[in-house]
Amino acid sequence: MKSALVTGITGQDGIHLTGLLLSKGYKVTGLHSPNSKNVNVFSALYPQVSLRNGDLADYGSLLKVIEETSPDEIYNLGAISFIDYSFKHPEETANISGLGVVRLLEAIRFFGVEKSLRFYQASSSEIFGRVTKFPQDETTPFDPRSPYGVAKVFAHQTCRNYREDYGIHISCGILFNHEGEHRGKEFVSRKITSHVAQIKSGLIKGFSLGAINSRRDWGYAGDYVKAIWLMLQQQKPDDYVIATGVTHSVEDFLIQSFKVAGVDGHYSKYVTLDKGLERPRELNLLVGDPSKALKVLGWKAETTFSELVQLMVEHDISILSN
Ligand code: NAP
Repeated sequence: MKSALVTGITGQDGIHLTGLLLSKGYKVTGLHSPNSKNVNVFSALYPQVSLRNGDLADYGSLLKVIEETSPDEIYNLGAISFIDYSFKHPEETANISGLGVVRLLEAIRFFGVEKSLRFYQASSSEIFGRVTKFPQDETTPFDPRSPYGVAKVFAHQTCRNYREDYGIHISCGILFNHEGEHRGKEFVSRKITSHVAQIKSGLIKGFSLGAINSRRDWGYAGDYVKAIWLMLQQQKPDDYVIATGVTHSVEDFLIQSFKVAGVDGHYSKYVTLDKGLERPRELNLLVGDPSKALKVLGWKAETTFSELVQLMVEHDISILSN
């Protein structure tokens, strides 16, 4: 039986990846931060998974969990992942999302398991930042425009160096936005679906949003974790863009959400536009070219945009009706 250690296991991708790994017969151990608010929700979903308290900022806690669990594969999903938060807390973001990966990789070297263990790093399309090439692929230069993006570039480049210098099987997934029923409610997709569900249920009359013209390459997290797993099953480690290659605006997301929920009238009856909610620096259009993932991993996004919105809205309505 293969064993996997997943950092950030209580987050969106951690929940989807755990389901996938368990279905493939893995023994899964998860690391959650000392301040985690999602442990109870996660444990109710997957009581068979062993959870360990640890911190990407604390080298000792990473040494301990690796020593105790001897994983065949480590999936590093843990991060400060909300971009707006990263602008307010740049040092914490650099420490967790950037330096956290150095601590994990040094722990691997400490135990001398460079040649036997495989490592996945959650890189992000935000490393491309201010782009001039469309769509973006694995050769697109990095120009991150947020503390989150900067920390992810640091982590990404560190992984490439450790792969080349120490021969560790490290693959980085450059994932574009992916959403789903476990997405945090601070992210715009889930903010929309959870508020639309509340409007549908008569609990609120409206809500506020920032820039609705921004476009995103949105996929479904349940599809994307399959690509993550496939990367670690390849003989050679490598980096892959994971995306749908199609963009939609936040306004498209709004229109589709109200349509699925069956709320009367145009969304503008319910949504107030608030400039204060816009990002300090909005990016150029991020849209991914996932052809390498198709060619090498045989992976492509399966869930369409309207299916994604539908599953999120229906999930949020069902939570309220239960
Ligand atoms: P998420 O829901 O925010 O999950 C990240 C998890 O990291 C959090 O749930 C948090 O869990 C954990 N964490 C935070 N600080 C930590 C610390 N000090 N030590 C250990 N764990 C800590 O994000 P996600 O959507 O699942 O994304 C997974 C990874 O992919 C992240 O690295 C993210 O940056 C990256 N990514 C996501 C997207 C996307 O669109 N979703 C796109 C590209 C890349 P606890 O505090 O509960 O332990």
